[in-house]
Amino acid sequence: MPVKACKFGGSSLADPPKFRKVKAIVEADPQRRYIVPSAPGRRHRQDQKITDLLYLCHDHARKGIAFEEVFKLIADRYNRIAADLVPTLNLQGPLEEVRQKIASTATNGDSPDYAASRGEYLNGLILAELLGMELVDPASIIHFDSDGQFDKKKTHQAMKRRLDKTQRAIIPGFYGGMPDGRIKTFSRGGSDITGAVVACAVGASVYENWTDVTGLLMANPNIIPNPRLIQTITYKELRELAYMGATVLHDEAIFPVRMKGIPVNIRGTDDPDHPGTMILKTEKVPATDAAITGIAGKKGFTFISIEKALMNTELGYGRRLLETLEVHGVSFEHMPSGIDTISVVIENSQLEGKLDQVLSDIKMACKPDTIEVSPHMALIATVGRGMSRRPGTAAKLFGALGRAEINIRMIDQGSSELNIIVGVEEKDFENSVRAIYEEFVEE
Ligand code: ASP
Repeated sequence: MPVKACKFGGSSLADPPKFRKVKAIVEADPQRRYIVPSAPGRRHRQDQKITDLLYLCHDHARKGIAFEEVFKLIADRYNRIAADLVPTLNLQGPLEEVRQKIASTATNGDSPDYAASRGEYLNGLILAELLGMELVDPASIIHFDSDGQFDKKKTHQAMKRRLDKTQRAIIPGFYGGMPDGRIKTFSRGGSDITGAVVACAVGASVYENWTDVTGLLMANPNIIPNPRLIQTITYKELRELAYMGATVLHDEAIFPVRMKGIPVNIRGTDDPDHPGTMILKTEKVPATDAAITGIAGKKGFTFISIEKALMNTELGYGRRLLETLEVHGVSFEHMPSGIDTISVVIENSQLEGKLDQVLSDIKMACKPDTIEVSPHMALIATVGRGMSRRPGTAAKLFGALGRAEINIRMIDQGSSELNIIVGVEEKDFENSVRAIYEEFVEE
């Protein structure tokens, strides 16, 4: 029988009614055998995530500030969930152990990883009881080396060996163990990675990633009201959109499943019958007539544009420019160029406190005729595998922006023919996204 690995995000496990939905989802399909929970997320806007509270406990303990009050918020939350769903489960012992160990790890000068990981662990205890499944602690099957680097190979082998013996299991997300027995977490949002690693180890037919959105949207809903949902998307398209700020999955979660060709299905716990968004390998995605798959963008860029007569004949010009950036530890995002012009697009955070020195060094190294700095710029990526098959996509895009009276300051079409990136001033960002969406989606 095919097997499905399912990860449930914190917003899907925030309170007892949500847990009930998760139970119904798991029980509706016997293939859903390996379940990865996150820690309880926010129940409402002002609420706090359990993981954030756990970090706070560690921080207080490290500074010698009493953390009992914060810990009580955490304990109350779990006790309430457990009392409602699994009254026979007594969390007193595990909670007390966590409290004591947070105090000792913090005073020993250890990292906050142990504290942070307990959100997933305690949720795992509850979910295992609720679903009648075995809890498999990832501390013994997700391995990090002594430098804290994730050990992919060792993890795969250990996890496969362990889960092959277990028909159905709950594997708490976000953390694993180091050779000396200490707990180590992935970066924030890392339960997605655990889910991906589990999916690979059990050879899942699909990795279901359940969250509070029904799937991936074609555009940011804060700009486009009720944007359409993307039904299928390739890993490559997702990478382009995610890089531009469309976040559903932790970046590092994509690579393991992509390598194995395991499809990822983004699903919404509040609308479990909706098929959500399928992320597939390019070869497996049905041909599409849609010109674009999605639009994403970000503000916060600076363009540095250089002009120099006969730049094209000067050997090593581009190298000198990039070397200057490298010396200052500045990475760039794009580098559109013309015959006598070259620009670099840089995220503002890269230039913080360095801009003047970077400019003066570029002047020394490149001796440009002019150098122009444009701060407050935004980038917008229009992504679609259908683009290469449709002549005129770029013309349509530029036409739409022209009609909206938007001045395009940069154009970059990646060699993949999957993505057209335009640079506009930040003040034009939202209008540009609207113009593109209306042109291609509401056509
Ligand atoms: N609970 C962790 C976090 O808040 C991991 C996760 O939710 O994926 O970052």
